[in-house]
Amino acid sequence: MNPSTARNCCGYCRATSYHRVLARDDAGVMRYTEALRCTGCGREYANLQVWRQGDTQDATTPPVATAN
Ligand SMILES: [Zn+2]
Repeated sequence: MNPSTARNCCGYCRATSYHRVLARDDAGVMRYTEALRCTGCGREYANLQVWRQGDTQDATTPPVATAN
């Protein structure tokens, strides 16, 4: 295991695949979002980085300022 290499698997259940989450946008069109659902544990994650960490509470990454 090389800790400097990002694992491309679920940090919670080690599954290597996921489904992207579809959401309806303002125009009523279904689009893929950053969110994804793991095929192994079925948990939903906000983005790929959180999925790799296996934690829905993303405590290690400082929040990114977003313009509302
Ligand atoms: Zn999983």
